[in-house]
Amino acid sequence: MNIQKVMVIGAGQMGGGIAQVCAQAGYDVLLNDLKDEYLDRGIAVISKNLSRSVEKGRMAEEDKTAALANITRSTDLQDAVDVDIVIEAAVENMKIKTEIFQKLDVIVPAHAILATNTSSLPITEIAAATKRPNQVIGMHFMNPVPIMKLVEIIRGLATTDEVYNTVEKMTKDLKKSPVEVNDFPGFISNRILMPMINEAIYSLYEGVATKEAIDDVMKMGMNHPMGPLQLADFIGLDTCLYIMEILHEGFGDSKYRPCPLLRKYVKAGWLGKKTGRGFYEYA
Ligand code: NAD
Repeated sequence: MNIQKVMVIGAGQMGGGIAQVCAQAGYDVLLNDLKDEYLDRGIAVISKNLSRSVEKGRMAEEDKTAALANITRSTDLQDAVDVDIVIEAAVENMKIKTEIFQKLDVIVPAHAILATNTSSLPITEIAAATKRPNQVIGMHFMNPVPIMKLVEIIRGLATTDEVYNTVEKMTKDLKKSPVEVNDFPGFISNRILMPMINEAIYSLYEGVATKEAIDDVMKMGMNHPMGPLQLADFIGLDTCLYIMEILHEGFGDSKYRPCPLLRKYVKAGWLGKKTGRGFYEYA
């Protein structure tokens, strides 16, 4: 199948980045969000990112203009009536995602693929909310989207090979590297990353070392660009807790129990960089 027209749902951190890379690759992009002001904010970020590329000599001014011209604003899901694929990047909430997918299922053409950028919710369950579970798939981009190469492509239980192959080709057209994964809690990225972060938090909680020492061991000893506690602050401690709960519930295995210190920080509103305080303080 040939993809030309894409709707991206959610003009936030991830949706904005996905719309940007699709527009740069020449796709016709509809960027959808609930309100005009959210679209204004999302498009301002895209424009700033592209301007920075022009200033650094990585992109010509005409290419920036062309990419921005490929993006059309939308606050109405009905605009998806002639798209080939939807990539949903709204908030991480099963009720909201299934409602969006149910609505889209009756709007988009019969051939259209419905993809979700969820970090942790089961693709198969989202697919089951539609009458086209064979055309539903996970496209898990990494943050920040314009920079990170990986897209984890997650097959739901019913996803067909044709749909997988179409999404894999599109991912390559976006100059990203696809990796195929099946639908189990946390997929691969968060199944491995989050327990590591949780273990680092346990190490702090049990007084094994200071936060700086824990991060130093992983940076200098394992060559990680950032220590796990700093990374948790960047991801958001609420998001880390949420994903640990998905793993704990999904596998029913106590090895995924979230650290009490993580719960305490989230209850305190210490969510990391976005609130100015997590394991570290941010000005
Ligand atoms: P965000 O809060 O920055 O953006 C979400 C956007 O979706 C907001 O602009 C919001 O107004 C919009 N939205 C909410 N409900 C909507 C609806 N019904 N219709 C249209 N738009 C709606 O969130 P984000 O960080 O961009 O995350 C989006 C998705 O991507 C989540 O599922 C998240 O788990 C996933 N994800 C996030 C990251 C990350 O590092 N932030 C990485 C990979 C995947």
